[in-house]
Amino acid sequence: MTADVKKETLGFQTEAKQLLHLMIHSLYSNKEIFMRELISNSSDAIDKLRFAALADDTLLEGQGDYAIHIDLDKEANSITISDNGIGMDRDEVIENLGTIAKSGTASFLESLTGDERKDSQLIGQFGVGFYSGFIVADRVQVHTRKAGDSADSGVLWESSGEAEFSIESNLKETRGTSITLFLKKGCEEFADDFRVRSVIKKYSDHISVPVMMLKPPAPASEDDVSEADTKIEFESVNEASALWMRGRSEVKRDEYKAFYKHISHDYDDPLTWSHNKVEGKLEYTSLLYIPAKAPFDLWNREMSRGLKLYVQRTFIMDDAEQFLPLYLRFIKGVVDSNDLSLNVSREILQQDPAVESMRNALTKRVLDMLSKMAKAKKGNDYATFWKHFGTVLKEGPAEDTTNQVKIAKLLRFSTTHTDLEEQDQSLENYVVRMQEKQEKIYYVVAENFNTAKKSPHLEVFRKKGIEVLLLSDRVDDWLMNHLREFDGKQFQDVARGALDLAGDSEEEKEAQEALSKESEALVERVSKVLEARVSEVRATARLTDSAACLVVGDFDMGSQMRRIMEAAGQEMPESKPILEINPAHPLAEMLDQEPDEDRFESLANIIFDQATLVEGGQLDDPADYVARMNNLLVAMRQG
Ligand code: ADP
Repeated sequence: MTADVKKETLGFQTEAKQLLHLMIHSLYSNKEIFMRELISNSSDAIDKLRFAALADDTLLEGQGDYAIHIDLDKEANSITISDNGIGMDRDEVIENLGTIAKSGTASFLESLTGDERKDSQLIGQFGVGFYSGFIVADRVQVHTRKAGDSADSGVLWESSGEAEFSIESNLKETRGTSITLFLKKGCEEFADDFRVRSVIKKYSDHISVPVMMLKPPAPASEDDVSEADTKIEFESVNEASALWMRGRSEVKRDEYKAFYKHISHDYDDPLTWSHNKVEGKLEYTSLLYIPAKAPFDLWNREMSRGLKLYVQRTFIMDDAEQFLPLYLRFIKGVVDSNDLSLNVSREILQQDPAVESMRNALTKRVLDMLSKMAKAKKGNDYATFWKHFGTVLKEGPAEDTTNQVKIAKLLRFSTTHTDLEEQDQSLENYVVRMQEKQEKIYYVVAENFNTAKKSPHLEVFRKKGIEVLLLSDRVDDWLMNHLREFDGKQFQDVARGALDLAGDSEEEKEAQEALSKESEALVERVSKVLEARVSEVRATARLTDSAACLVVGDFDMGSQMRRIMEAAGQEMPESKPILEINPAHPLAEMLDQEPDEDRFESLANIIFDQATLVEGGQLDDPADYVARMNNLLVAMRQG
């Protein structure tokens, strides 16, 4: 055997040399990634053998259990990663480990700037691969033999990552590749069992092959020392099953649920999920879950969100937020891409057009999953979903105009149809119930459900039996600013602008005109008194039971939005509401007949303040209101 040993020393290809140098210097801050790269290479080598063995099972040499082994040697300060995959012959070793065959290598190297931070991102994009071993090692040994070849065709490759490598024949009994890294000073942590296990868990849990490590010896009790000393046992450190890569029909419901709990750290089952494999121009697999409960930090727009990103079953990152829009931040799951590089960074994801089209497809998938759930005849999953995540989905129409129509169909509201606080009415149902001549979808926005339900603005709508959406979530004003129409019908805030009810008969219109004529004098008087507080006073037909209400100008900010902005410390431009008076109300009549100017002023102010209170607004001067009210009450007894 020894006669065959031919040791040669060869130089790295120029590009390989440059890449090596760059790798060592720019990736040192993230050195643990070498584990992921080498385990991923081993897993690929096993995948290749797995495939080749389909045609020729002699390649397995009677040993078909695939595994990756990690051996640590604290004394030698080394770590060895071994696989029983396809292996390499001598020529392949020279070709694969001495040169870089990747297309675009030259232009990649040209694009380097010399700025370490920028270059490390570029190199991430390019892919670091095998050479990443040199980030932590000052000497790397590769011992490999091609599956199916004889033991004496083993090859030993060695390099210290500078200009050259040596290669010689070396007996290898088992097929596959063993890579030993002699660790640099300062990298001793990678010969430490605990540290290595945690890195494997972090990056390679879902590599489908088991990654085996020596089982830590059980704490030896005094009387069975001998047993513990002699047994060498290995155990799998990773989960060793990429569930999402299995066919849908092969995965049981319980397995889907267990996997959900694993990735979401949620104790409850998910409401539903969607598992898909996409092939064609882009290749990826996605497994998306809708949780049944909102996490405590759902409101925090910075909360951890997004999907786990895998590239070819190798874990790349958590919270890959580029794959779904913000309003779907409650979705949990996994995307596994075949097109991205293992070293893809967040910055790169942001610019990659492939990511953009995956995002569009995944968004559509989630919206479809929701609409399927909404249409389901059985159960009330959608109601559960809406209860927990409805307010987040309401951010959708503003964020994602492309899917606005789809999202609008998923929205649920409280309306005067049921007057229930539960938001369970769809816009589609509203439209079906619209009156014959009704052209708009009406809504009222208030601080809370009760205020909305009892808003004086609804009086005329209730009288005429026209349905109004009752909105009271913080996000509602924002939503309605972006949702302009549904099914060709515009939305109309009933507290905004002049009352415009299509379908009013001629008589009604005439009556209204007569009403404003009759109340001209009263309106004039009230305007004078309240000049500083209102932008306009007018007579209205929209009230039946109330004396007055406040209306927002067509182009002014809604009062709910204004309150939210003010609460957030935003300085808002002054804007005065319009006061509408119901001339038929006894209070208005009383006002009209009041000869005493002081009392008139007092009563007008009280009416205005009450209109503010009914909306859930705050009085500028509550003490003034109480004093005026009390004077009136006292006068009542005296009178
Ligand atoms: P990449 O994996 O991106 O092609 P690498 O530098 O990581 O680049 O590896 C170069 C080549 O070396 C691989 O394409 C593969 O053919 C070969 N290789 C690396 N590791 C192994 C291994 N453990 N077993 C077999 N071949 C390997």
